[in-house]
This record gives sequence, C-alpha cells and structure tokens, in this order.
Amino acid sequence: MTTRVALIAHDHKKDDIVQLSGEYAATLARCELLATGTTGSRIAAAHGLTVERMLSGPHGGDLQIGAQLAEGKVDMVIFLRDPMTPQPHEPDINALVRACDVHNIPCATNISTARMILDVLTLRLAQKA
Ligand code: PGA
Repeated sequence: MTTRVALIAHDHKKDDIVQLSGEYAATLARCELLATGTTGSRIAAAHGLTVERMLSGPHGGDLQIGAQLAEGKVDMVIFLRDPMTPQPHEPDINALVRACDVHNIPCATNISTARMILDVLTLRLAQKA
C-alpha cells in the first residue's frame, strides 16, 4: 500500500518545508501526499508533486488531516510548527499532534526529525524497489 505522508508548515516555516520536500522529492513522489491548503500549494508549485490539499490550517485543515489519521489513512506527519508565534488554531494543532500520539503515528515537528523520518522512508522505499 502506498505510504501516505501529511505535510504542514506554519507561515514562518513554509520556506523550510518547500526546501525539505525538494530534497526528498524523489521519495515523496512515490507516496501519496496530503497537506494543509497553503503548504500543499507551495510544495506542488515548487516541485510538481501531486498533493491532496485540505483547507488551510486556520480554517480546519489540521483537523481534516487529524480525522484521516484517526481513520488509519495517514502513515506519517511532517508538521513544521512555528514555536515563536501564537497561532489562532492552537487547539487544532494540539488535536493533530495528540491524534498522532493516540494512534502511534510518527510526527516530526522540526526539520531534524523530519529528515530522520524521511531518511528512513527513503531507505524503506529503496528496499522495495
Ligand atoms: P496552511 O496551514 O498550509 O494552509 O498555511 C498551515 C497551518 O497554519 O496549520
């Protein structure tokens, strides 16, 4: 079954997730990608990856991803949060991270952890190839 990867980045982290997804574009191209609205647009425009776009985060996109995750439809989450800026949808953010813990889904909230997860994913896909 195709690995489903959720990608989310707060505004100050959008450049980071675009760069990260470019570095791992070959790996991500072999996955099904879903993302919050603006993050998904940025990644698709930058790298030509196919991304299923949810609503923007502040409009419920994190919750939509959380709902899919709770149904077993998300295998890993890259969620580059901005720890320095208050977010209007903080409860939604906490709900998504909690859902990852409830369902034991890997969730990277910074670039270092994201790279580790994506490195493992790259290796796993290489073994399958
Ligand atoms: P966005 O949402 O990708 O639509 O900006 C991300 C967020 O703020 O949670």
